[in-house]
Amino acid sequence: MTTPFINVPAPAKRAIERLEAAGFEAYAVGGCVRDVILGRAPNDWDITTSARPEETARVFADRRTIETGIKHGTLTVLMDGMPLEITTYRCDGEYLDNRHPASVTFASRVEEDLARRDFTVNAMAYHPTRGLVDLFGGREDLAAGRISCVGDAKTRFEEDGLRILRAIRFASVLNFEIAPETDRAIRECRHLLSNIAAERIREEFCKLITGVGAVRILRDYHEVIEVFIPELAPCVGFAQNTKYHCYDVYEHILQSLALVEGEDLRTRLGVFFHDIGKPRCYTEDATGGHFKGHGDTGAEMTQGIMRRLRFDNATTESVVRLVSYHDREIEPAPRSVKRLMRAMPDEDILRLMEIKRCDRMAHAKGYDQPSSALVEIPRIMREIREEDACFSLRTLAVNGSDLMSIGVPKGREIGRILGALLEAVIDGELPNERDTLLDAAKKMK
Ligand code: ATP
Ligand code: MG
Repeated sequence: MTTPFINVPAPAKRAIERLEAAGFEAYAVGGCVRDVILGRAPNDWDITTSARPEETARVFADRRTIETGIKHGTLTVLMDGMPLEITTYRCDGEYLDNRHPASVTFASRVEEDLARRDFTVNAMAYHPTRGLVDLFGGREDLAAGRISCVGDAKTRFEEDGLRILRAIRFASVLNFEIAPETDRAIRECRHLLSNIAAERIREEFCKLITGVGAVRILRDYHEVIEVFIPELAPCVGFAQNTKYHCYDVYEHILQSLALVEGEDLRTRLGVFFHDIGKPRCYTEDATGGHFKGHGDTGAEMTQGIMRRLRFDNATTESVVRLVSYHDREIEPAPRSVKRLMRAMPDEDILRLMEIKRCDRMAHAKGYDQPSSALVEIPRIMREIREEDACFSLRTLAVNGSDLMSIGVPKGREIGRILGALLEAVIDGELPNERDTLLDAAKKMK
């Protein structure tokens, strides 16, 4: 293959030139080379160099630098506004724990650095004048749409178990196949993922689930996901025995996921977990299978899973609530939409509508029509916003001190009365006006 031309952005090019002017070698490497050859915009530009970290620091002494991972030889340099991760050529020592090399040895040749990288498509380096260094058939695998380990797949996974999840993550994001030998090793070694830090797993899983190939990968490699989300296993093949469904629980989840528009993480997680509580809630009678309470059971399970994977609180709270609400009937009327707006932020209401739409459309024929409420509810929500109508204590025309001024004692009584007033306002029984509300409060005292 002819060497491709890669337009290295000016700041990265200048960093390479600077390192070389100081007598070192430097290349753009990894994800950026892969993405540019694929015609995609890279997330960031990484540089690999023969300079040791302290030498790199000296070369960029006049720039802002962050010691990202000095131990692993990485220094982040801010070059004309562009953060560049500059890493010294490394060859990893022996891996004793399926996670970390026992030692990091700096190397003197780019070949050694490329050999320690995970997949052929991630193991290419590019130099603005010397061109592409592709020692493991990375371009061929890119052209074939294939994820393939550098070297023996099993050995590479035994060195670092996270690579198992990274393999299927890249297959999802790039919509690639997995080479047969790599595929066999993934299945054989998948349990090594149980040694890997939750944060590292979460990061790869989030990228996987937002990838274009997510549904296919989650179907083909559910056993890999089950290593860190064992709650999923009972869903796979779980027959629903109801006329409303034509898929088993896991396939229904995947069919729903296939219908999600966009890449929003919370929506995708919400869909992925929406029915995870079903197997635990299953009951059967003469009319068939039922899953009463699976929304709340699923929400509780989702909370457990997301805590374990160390998701941040905001994301967890939002996804758990979406799972809990996914099968609640919401009337397209101002009073129920106001209640919904009290329970969650507007963005989550839109996410909930999308989850409900996808869930519904993945039902059996005849039961797969999304209800018109899914369009009505966001419209009503916008009207409530435009009118600035009251749906929370914050926007109620009276507050705690108003109640105290008419003699309500400090404490629980205040909360009770404010709650009752808010309910009455939401239900349209009282206008949100101070005097009327205070009159009503006097009667409630
Ligand atoms: P993304 O676009 O998602 O950031 P990336 O290829 O840049 O993709 P990173 O996780 O940022 O992926 O890693 C940068 C590079 O470091 C990879 O391209 C790969 O060469 C190497 N790498 C990262 N993690 C590992 C690992 N666990 N084992 C071996 N090499 C790795
Ligand atoms: Mg990267």
